[in-house]
Amino acid sequence: MKDKIWLSSPHMGGDEIKFVQEAFDTNWVAPLGPNVNGFEEDLQNYTGAKYAAALSSGTAALHLSLIMLGVQPGDEVICSSFTFSATINAIRYQFATPITIDSEEETWNMSPKFLEEAIKDRIANGKKPKAVVLVHLYGVSAKIDEIVEICNRYEIPLIEDAAEALGATYKGKALGTFGVMGILSFNGNKIITTSGGGALISDNEEYITKARFLATQARDNAPHYQHTHVGYNYRMSNICAGIGRGQMKVLDEHVALRRKNYAFYKEELAKYEGITFLEEPENSFANMWLTCILVDPAKTGGITRDDIRLALEAENIESRPLWKPMHLQPAYEAHPFYGDGTSERLFNMGLCIPSGSNLSDEDRNRVITVLHAVLSK
Ligand SMILES: *Cc1c(COP(=O)(O)O)cnc(C)c1O
Repeated sequence: MKDKIWLSSPHMGGDEIKFVQEAFDTNWVAPLGPNVNGFEEDLQNYTGAKYAAALSSGTAALHLSLIMLGVQPGDEVICSSFTFSATINAIRYQFATPITIDSEEETWNMSPKFLEEAIKDRIANGKKPKAVVLVHLYGVSAKIDEIVEICNRYEIPLIEDAAEALGATYKGKALGTFGVMGILSFNGNKIITTSGGGALISDNEEYITKARFLATQARDNAPHYQHTHVGYNYRMSNICAGIGRGQMKVLDEHVALRRKNYAFYKEELAKYEGITFLEEPENSFANMWLTCILVDPAKTGGITRDDIRLALEAENIESRPLWKPMHLQPAYEAHPFYGDGTSERLFNMGLCIPSGSNLSDEDRNRVITVLHAVLSK
């Protein structure tokens, strides 16, 4: 059996181990320490956000962002339907009701049209949504200008789930810095990793100070353990943050390599009718975290997304359908949804193909050989 080619696997730059070693040498093996502070500074400098809190996961960051906005049981929170489940799960952690919004065709992200329709309808139903959680899927910018304008007009705070979008910008500004808060993820499959981890970023110092406080068990200032608030154990460890500091040094290189993968696949597959790509929207810079294709069997002579997936699997190459929309998930299908079936159609035809920044030329050639073989049948 040939070596496995993964969709997106961790890619170390080399300096990570130095920061981790330093943590061991100084015995900062704790959920606090110089690497955590250093990593937070790196994130602030890189994204341009004034403040950052390094946390145990992107999911923890989402949960804290909703707590910060005062989301309570029974409140309604709007979010993108086409996303990874963590986005919507965090809403349920607060016992709030998720209202899911379909995608638009261009960026595959939240449709501004259905967002406004939903806001109007929820208000007419007697409840104004407490927050909007906007996802920038696969490192591609959503229609930010329109969505920010709608949120401002209705005075609803915007949280950006930029878990997949570190390194991506819109009009030169980092994704995750357009709303009142943004969240990042450093899970093992993301563009950089801390093995597991996340961050909350914001220009609002109060949010970040409070997030750090809640993430370390909400301990009041007293010699004994005194608690006025419910706390969480959501802080990032100094070991993981050391990996993060090393990864920040290679982030731009990783983005460049992922964009190179995308360009390679796009050029190679240009000749096939029925294969289209998630495109980089105007005025934006995408990190191309995963290369995503749509396979339209009506134009490929009947070849489907799953034909390609199974052919890759037979060669020990991992690929995966696009995220299954949340309004189609048994856990969430009973909640209100506003849309026209766009994300469902994308899900039915879409496939993510190997996109790691550590793919070799040989790896890419193995992938493309399979794709050519299937598509020229
Ligand atoms: C990965 C991801 C998350 C969750 O991040 P974790 O660090 O794995 O908790 C949230 N939202 C999206 C869109 C993601 O892809």
